[in-house]
Amino acid sequence: MTKIHNFSAGPSILAESAFQKSIADIQNFAGTGLSILEISHRTKEFESIMDQARAIIKELLQIPENYDVLFLQGGASSQFFQIPHNFLINSAAYTKTGTWASGAIKEAKLYGEVNVVASSEDKNFNYIPKNYAIPETVDYFHCTSNNTIFGTQMKAFPKSPVPLFCDMSSDIFSRPVDVSQFSLIYAGAQKNMGPAGVTLVIIDKAMYDKRSSRPIPSMLDYKLHGEKESMYNTPPVFSILVSLYNLQWVKELGGVNAMAARNKAKSDLLYNAIDKSPYFKGTTARDDRSEMNACFVFEENDPELEAKFNAAWKEAGISGIKGHRSVGGYRASMYNALPLESVQALVNVIETFAL
Ligand SMILES: *Cc1c(COP(=O)(O)O)cnc(C)c1O
Repeated sequence: MTKIHNFSAGPSILAESAFQKSIADIQNFAGTGLSILEISHRTKEFESIMDQARAIIKELLQIPENYDVLFLQGGASSQFFQIPHNFLINSAAYTKTGTWASGAIKEAKLYGEVNVVASSEDKNFNYIPKNYAIPETVDYFHCTSNNTIFGTQMKAFPKSPVPLFCDMSSDIFSRPVDVSQFSLIYAGAQKNMGPAGVTLVIIDKAMYDKRSSRPIPSMLDYKLHGEKESMYNTPPVFSILVSLYNLQWVKELGGVNAMAARNKAKSDLLYNAIDKSPYFKGTTARDDRSEMNACFVFEENDPELEAKFNAAWKEAGISGIKGHRSVGGYRASMYNALPLESVQALVNVIETFAL
């Protein structure tokens, strides 16, 4: 079988070593003679996995002491309502930079006033708005660091006079971030951290005292999950285990700084090929191009050329580059675990398919 170059937008490629270690644990976890899939989450063996997972996340992102690292469920989409349920008392500010940001806004509106301080909807979300003002009177400000569907990425974060919350689902661990700037960061695991099923939340513990007075069901209560160290109920054990192994691979390669260099090399290689090609163009503003998800389309509609291209990348073992329906064309997702050689394989196709 030829190697498959996996450009899937999510769930997405993970380190091969994460699969190998997980397979061993499915058969015999930590010498228990039992599978990771059939053992209590309250065993010392699994508690050690939780401790290691928390520790490696704190280490990789250099998370200050005053933050909790939580492993929750319900996907990043559940954060869209868990955040306002806890913290939207009167009003909140949001940027509207894509499909996921719009989803977060929609849910927040169930709880109070939402002030959309900046939007890129006028150009089908193909850029990151800048130079907007965040009111001092809102309860928090929410942004999306990487817009997975439209292929734009924030290269810097605004100074916020109110707690800054960020959806980092599709670029967490892809580059260093100054966690102390944020009051809450969240990410569904299945883009750049691990398999689907766990949602990472990094929260400044000072936020626990800023919760709304509305009743908060236990499963939506960040403070309770923090106090119980993500063991209030059964955590998504297998997703946490595989995430740990994937992050161990990130650490072995040199951590998030090494990932940032690797991701820049990969995205430069692809964007240069798109820019040079007479057939394709990128869909987003250059300065805001995502290093994780590159969206590109044909310069002109040409069904014959398109069929040729589609046949060529399939032939090269490339998978998962069909664009999202809201952009069309192609989207190549280049998460941490995707090797440079896979991007090179796609670039080769872009450069030669029409010859
Ligand atoms: C995929 C994605 C989501 C949705 O994540 P789920 O875990 O499927 O709920 C939210 N935000 C961003 C930026 C995403 O890429």
